[in-house]
Amino acid sequence: MKKYFLTAIALFFLSGFVFSQTDIPSQYAETITQQGLKKQLTIVASAEMEGRETGTEGQRKAAAYIESQFKEIGLQAPESLKGYQQYYPLFKDTLIPKFLKIGKVKLKYGEDYILQPGSETNNKLSAKEIVFAGYGIEDKNYNDYDGKNVKGKIVLIFAGEPQVNGKYLVSGTGKRSSWGFSTTRKAALAKEKGAIGVLLVNPMWDSIPTKLAESSRSTNLLFPHLNDKERVAIIMILPSFLKNMMGESDASKILEAVKAKAPLNTISFDKKTKTKLVFKKISVKVEASNVLGYIEGTDKKDEYVFLTAHYDHLGKKGNVIYYGADDDGSGTVSVIEMAKAFAKAKAEGHGPRRTVVFMTVSGEEKGLWGSEYYSDHPVFPLDKTTVDLNTDMIGRIDPNRKYGDSTNYVYVIGNDKLSSDLDPISKATNNAYSHLELDYKYNAPDDPERIYYRSDHYNFARKGVPVIFFFDGIHKDYHKPSDTVDKINFDLMEKRARFIFLIAWEIANRNDMLKRDIPLPDDVK
Ligand SMILES: [Zn+2]
Repeated sequence: MKKYFLTAIALFFLSGFVFSQTDIPSQYAETITQQGLKKQLTIVASAEMEGRETGTEGQRKAAAYIESQFKEIGLQAPESLKGYQQYYPLFKDTLIPKFLKIGKVKLKYGEDYILQPGSETNNKLSAKEIVFAGYGIEDKNYNDYDGKNVKGKIVLIFAGEPQVNGKYLVSGTGKRSSWGFSTTRKAALAKEKGAIGVLLVNPMWDSIPTKLAESSRSTNLLFPHLNDKERVAIIMILPSFLKNMMGESDASKILEAVKAKAPLNTISFDKKTKTKLVFKKISVKVEASNVLGYIEGTDKKDEYVFLTAHYDHLGKKGNVIYYGADDDGSGTVSVIEMAKAFAKAKAEGHGPRRTVVFMTVSGEEKGLWGSEYYSDHPVFPLDKTTVDLNTDMIGRIDPNRKYGDSTNYVYVIGNDKLSSDLDPISKATNNAYSHLELDYKYNAPDDPERIYYRSDHYNFARKGVPVIFFFDGIHKDYHKPSDTVDKINFDLMEKRARFIFLIAWEIANRNDMLKRDIPLPDDVK
């Protein structure tokens, strides 16, 4: 990289190409330095920010700091927001369980059942009938609802999804589907079918996990999803309770099938059993925010390039601060420094053709809330948003990566999904400038860690916006108080941040938006 100037001049004369043009992005990429990144991260991941937990003072301090940086850099604030922060509502809910009776049996909260926090919408429900609906799945390869009428009734379903000969059945590919771990998807389907409540059985439970029982009853911070109204209360009960509803022999027949992960759609059970649930909920509204600023484009200013990272982290437990230097202080400060580089370019007459939006979101650690809110309430049209380049953890080395050069790699995720333009662009940019080892390990569709679904780019992807997620791997300080600034490899972080900047530059300045020619996988919709 250091020799690039001479090389470019030499190539200019040799090839006749106008290489002076290609010098420019590299020149601005090099304004992103390890010193600059370190200076920023020392503030963002300081004790002062208290671990930046969503909905707390620490998060608000971090937002104010990022806002001050955006202002200083000279980013514009979106007009519709009247400032740099997009506020979104959260609720601090406290659940006070009162009463649950199924048939003749009165159940005890925390011992016999719990409610899934946030799933409940009404303070009471009563139904006269319970219908068994297997795993509660309806998909093209497998249907638990065939011929079953659940209208006005309670649906009894199991967690998980069926397998045949060790292969998952629903996806049609043998791989897991999102049904297996999405109880909210199952609850939404039950509601769509007219059910008024879900009894969910986790076949692995001998007793209700104490921690889960405690947390469900304490005060929980909840995010009002746009589709919450499409859900019903999820009452989690123990497998051992089934015998009360259907008798010993039917219950053990079903439990055996579930244990074998067998399909359950051939089993029917429909009984006139009265269910009555009553609880109270105390709800207090709080706010969190995403922080956005932009640099207006020139001839393509109505198209947008997004650079995102999450600035929230896990906060503090007692006096112990979770600093989140890598997660995702590293991405947050990279976004700030990339903004600085783009602003400098613009000031010197090299502004981007498309508008570049810098967005740091909160709520990520709670469940990608900030980016979900943004993607449901976009400030700039999503169909004109050509890409989201999301940076979540780029400051560390993966100790489990036993091959290649550990000081010169980045995990690249999502690059071959949604747009066939994206992978060639990232590779060409890397070949021309960065020379990092681009590692696609976590991009594999059957990645057991499901990394693709685990950061904010996912909320852009689910709306059809092409994304790349840049990541460094899981290390021993991940989600520990020991994720601190002194453990960051700033040299490597600088290389990665420059690489992301250069991809953004290319996408912001090319003639066309990225084409969207690869369909969304079914389970992302
Ligand atoms: Zn995290």
